[in-house]
Parts: sequence; C-alpha cells; structure tokens
Amino acid sequence: MSQKFTLTEFLNRYPTNDACLEHIKQLRWGSATICPKCERKSNFYKVKGRTAYACQFCGHHMYPLAGTIFDKSSTPLTSWFYAIYLMAQTRSGISAKQLERELGVTYKTAWRMFKQIRLLLSDDSDINNLQGTVEVDETYIHPDKKKNTRIKTNSRFYGQSQILMGMVEQGGRARIKHIQSTGRRELIGQIKGNVQVSATVYSDGFRSYRALPKHGYTHAWVDHKAHQYLVAGIGTQNVENLWSQFKRGMYGVYRHCDPKYLQSYANEYAFRYSHRNTPAHMFDLFLGQIASTKFVRG
Ligand SMILES: [Zn+2]
Repeated sequence: MSQKFTLTEFLNRYPTNDACLEHIKQLRWGSATICPKCERKSNFYKVKGRTAYACQFCGHHMYPLAGTIFDKSSTPLTSWFYAIYLMAQTRSGISAKQLERELGVTYKTAWRMFKQIRLLLSDDSDINNLQGTVEVDETYIHPDKKKNTRIKTNSRFYGQSQILMGMVEQGGRARIKHIQSTGRRELIGQIKGNVQVSATVYSDGFRSYRALPKHGYTHAWVDHKAHQYLVAGIGTQNVENLWSQFKRGMYGVYRHCDPKYLQSYANEYAFRYSHRNTPAHMFDLFLGQIASTKFVRG
C-alpha cells in the first residue's frame, strides 16, 4: 500500500514523446511481433521523425498509436501520459481545470483529454461479473442549484437529482451504474447484468430487491428503519463507504456534472476502487486500458 509512483520516477520513465511511444509499442506488440507483410517475426525499429516503426526485414511500417485515443491527437504524448499519471495518482478525482493549469493547455483540450481517458475506464473490459458476497445500494446525486443557471447544456435531465446504483464485492471489485429509476425491473436487471447468480446479495430492506431469490440469488437484507444494522454479519458498509468517497469527489472536485457524463465519472471511481489495493500499479492499469486495441472506435 505504501509504494508510490513518484513524479520523479514518472519523469525518468517517460521523459520524451519517443519514450512514451516506445512504451505503447511494447504494451501492444511486445518486443518482437509478426510482420503483417513479410510474415516473419521481426524486431520493429523506430522511424526517425515519425510515430512509425519499420520491420527489420521488409521495412513495412506499423503505427502503435493507430486506434488508440492518442491517434491523430495534436497533444504531445508526454502531456497525455502526465494527464493519465495525475488521474491515476489521485484518490478522489481531479478536475479539467487542474489539468489545464498543470499542462498549460486550454480548458477545452484538458476537458476532452479527461473525457477520452475516462471513456476507456469502463468496466466493459472486465468480463467477469461480481461474485461472492455482493453489497448493493442506490444513492442520489443532487444538482448544484447555484451552478445550474450558469451552465448551458442540452441535457433533458440537467438540474434533476440523478440515481446511481452501486454493487460492491466484499473485499473486491465495484461497479457503479447511472440508472433511471429505483423500480424492481431496473434494479434486478442491473444485478443480473453485473453479479453472478451464484453470489449472495446483501441490501437494505428496499422492496425492489425482495424479488432476488426468484432470479436465483441468495439474498439477505437488513432493515435500517428498524435499526437492525448488523444481523449476523449482514451489512452494506462497503457500498456505503464507496458512496461517501464518490460523493466527496463528485461534489468536491467536479461540482457540476452533466448527467450525460455521470456514467463515465462513475466508471472512473469504480475502476479506482476495484484496484485500490495496488495504488502503485494504477498508472500501468490505466495505460493498459488506454493502449488496448479493444477500444477502437468509429
Ligand atoms: Zn516485414
């Protein structure tokens, strides 16, 4: 837990755009890869002045950035890496405003970088649904009334309280979903999509959850209203801790979040929570997602 990836270490590892490019190449292809043209296992070497590598046998060019968020970006790789470093090091999030100051880019650029990095931190990359004992709970995110009048948005839901659903493995991973209602269909549907049916689900006494056994889940709940907080080890403290951490970041750092982007903020928090026991590797985990070709869009 105490290991940290210090800024000095970071700067030593990624001092130049070429060093960043080399790292992405390694992440995607390893040190040697099959050349798609001559079909030989080749060590690709860097082409000077370009973001390309050439096959040692036939000279065929390959581009490590193709299909990643760095592709066709006018922002230098060193700035992208630094943004990822900052996002990976923080506990409760960092704002685009902070990045604008740190990188000396425009607010618009900083905001777009964060948005793109966040999009990749979706739990879609984790195909294994939650298992074991899983705590579930919903919470509300309330709009900041003072800010509302100053932000222009087309979002239909702007200014309304938004609902989030949290699902947390005891001692393990978390998922957070932006949901439209607390109806039974919505809540049970989320559990079926994110929690293995072999799991034991803990919740509060909310009625919508009572149908869980019908869907094959073992379900135990505590009635908070009856002050029945801990019944034979059943509780929802983990998901409650997740909410307090999430809200501290949400209200403290971002303040005004367009509901359109709430899911991507939620993904960032869930990702960080799921990997909380390996903070030193957070940067590599973030970058691993970002360099992945799975996320090629468009
Ligand atoms: Zn070749």
